[in-house]
Amino acid sequence: MTRRCRIDDCTHEARTGRRICGMHRQRIWRHGDPNFTEWTVADEQDVQTIIREARPAPGLTRLERIQVAQGLTQHGLPAQEIARILDVTPRTVYRWRSEGFRQAA
Ligand SMILES: [Zn+2]
Repeated sequence: MTRRCRIDDCTHEARTGRRICGMHRQRIWRHGDPNFTEWTVADEQDVQTIIREARPAPGLTRLERIQVAQGLTQHGLPAQEIARILDVTPRTVYRWRSEGFRQAA
């Protein structure tokens, strides 16, 4: 039996014997706040996991979104698909690409 993370809107599975997922556990541990969303902060492990799995993840910071978009672009995903994963418009993905991801961040 699997349980969902207790944090609102989180779609991750809670870790075995825990009530929250790994991402939120780490976020609480690092920042003392599961909803920490300061946009200049990016969790490298979260970003890499999302890029690898190419699946939607809630609660990303702006910087994390841009980094995921960059990673997925490098993996050859179309902007439409990246937009779906990040819950932004394809136009936003095109803008990040044209600005260069580093400047966009
Ligand atoms: Zn969670």
